[in-house]
Amino acid sequence: MSLKEAAERVAGEFEFDGEGVRKAVKEFLKEMDDGLQKDGTYMSQIPTYVTAVPNGTEKGLYMAVDLGGTNFRVCSINLHGDTTFSLTQSKTKIPKELMTAPTAQELFAFLAKQIEGFLKEHHNEHYEGHIRRHKHKTPNANPATDETEIFNLGFTFSFPVNQIGINRGLLMRWTKGFDIADAVGKDVCALLQTEIDRLHLPVRVAALVNDTVGTLMARSYTSPGKTGTLLGAIFGTGTNGAYVEKLSNVTKLTSNKEADGTYDNSTGEMIVNTEWGSFDNGLEVLPNTPYDVDLDKESVNPGIQMFEKRVSGMFLGEILRRAIVGLLKDKSVSLFGDSDSSVNDLHTTTNIAKDSALFKQWGLDTSFLSLASGDNSAGLKIIRQSLSKELSISSSSLEDAEAVKLIAAAVGRRAARLAAVAIGATVVQSGRLNSMEGKEGGELDERDVVDVGVDGSLVEFYPDFEAMMRGALREVPEIGEAGEKRIRIGIAKDGSGVGAALIALVASKEL
Ligand code: ADP
Repeated sequence: MSLKEAAERVAGEFEFDGEGVRKAVKEFLKEMDDGLQKDGTYMSQIPTYVTAVPNGTEKGLYMAVDLGGTNFRVCSINLHGDTTFSLTQSKTKIPKELMTAPTAQELFAFLAKQIEGFLKEHHNEHYEGHIRRHKHKTPNANPATDETEIFNLGFTFSFPVNQIGINRGLLMRWTKGFDIADAVGKDVCALLQTEIDRLHLPVRVAALVNDTVGTLMARSYTSPGKTGTLLGAIFGTGTNGAYVEKLSNVTKLTSNKEADGTYDNSTGEMIVNTEWGSFDNGLEVLPNTPYDVDLDKESVNPGIQMFEKRVSGMFLGEILRRAIVGLLKDKSVSLFGDSDSSVNDLHTTTNIAKDSALFKQWGLDTSFLSLASGDNSAGLKIIRQSLSKELSISSSSLEDAEAVKLIAAAVGRRAARLAAVAIGATVVQSGRLNSMEGKEGGELDERDVVDVGVDGSLVEFYPDFEAMMRGALREVPEIGEAGEKRIRIGIAKDGSGVGAALIALVASKEL
């Protein structure tokens, strides 16, 4: 067998055909429905208590903070009311010792201190005025302006929380190196508000924000269309989506005893955070190659986040690495000059350094997939340089690079078609394609557009990711060619800034 044929065989293992897409969409719809009814399902379908998306006319000055992992971001956002905004921000590294501080108070006091510093630097008049009035206990001459003096703040907190109200959420557990036992089970908004109040800052924690919901809100503000954005989806390190659901479909909401009922139900809708990274953890419909099986087995959370493990930036490089190693093990072909079929070992060629990242778990970054799939240079020079730089593989041949490109493209294409399953199922679930305002076959009427905001390096940088998603969307019978044309997909930037501000705005009207 030639190397080309062997690489085609491996690439073929990543085939995810129209039938696969259709079956997966069906299962996705079923799991969406399960999650809306009860807890403990694969997709959590978390109600966010946000009941409307922006239409671009929202106005005012809001604050947002983002505690993600390594950094704490503070920003103020001025919404101009014409789909545009301006944003001022500061970023601080979280000191390591605070991530494992003895009590939560130390961490949250530090966060409040950053907010204070930000206000002094960027909104000093506002801050001074408030502090002065507080010190002298002088009532504001016009009590009606008291309320406008307070900044409403959206708090993006990227750790697992059980959200029980628009600004209430109990920390379930820490991740990403944080470990402060006494915070677990507590309301993180209250923890932050207490420390803000200790410093007498004119700030109210108005909303607890999930980054995916922020993406949806940011997109809906900047690209509002006639109906508002349906879905915000992230394809970055991980993958997740939040969408607009009919309130009457969120049946588990009424049975959640802990949830406070204080949300505006007049819109008849609620944004739901799907947590779709866990779609099909039971592996009913997801494609499953030997590389997927091994990746999962050797991961820190086997059997969990099975959709994410086939779709997101954290994992695609590792899938490709395992597939290349698989091809290297095929003794009938020669890859990277490996032709010694008598040695039952991977290090059969001096072209690959012994300590090459090719033999290390997580050794290959997903950005390599983008580079490889997009390489149209003469002699695939870019791939060959990168093999040398990233994987310490010297003097790779054109045939080697062609094999790598073929497999990388197959892994990326499967990810894009799986991403389309999530987007397609959400569009079908919404029913928005069922009615048509404009003329069939005529110019696309703005009212018939189903808007989707996306964010993340994978969707932004992987070559033709959107085109491949669209190909799969057309293969879903409920969507078809006509439906696919009505789906508008656009990048939504800065969900944790402007998106969080927009949620604070919506929330401040409800508090
Ligand atoms: P996050 O999701 O953490 O906010 P990103 O959207 O930047 O951040 O996603 C980071 C992930 O994207 C990483 O897993 C990285 O490997 C991957 N990545 C970075 N650059 C690229 C690229 N050019 N093409 C595809 N994936 C990329």
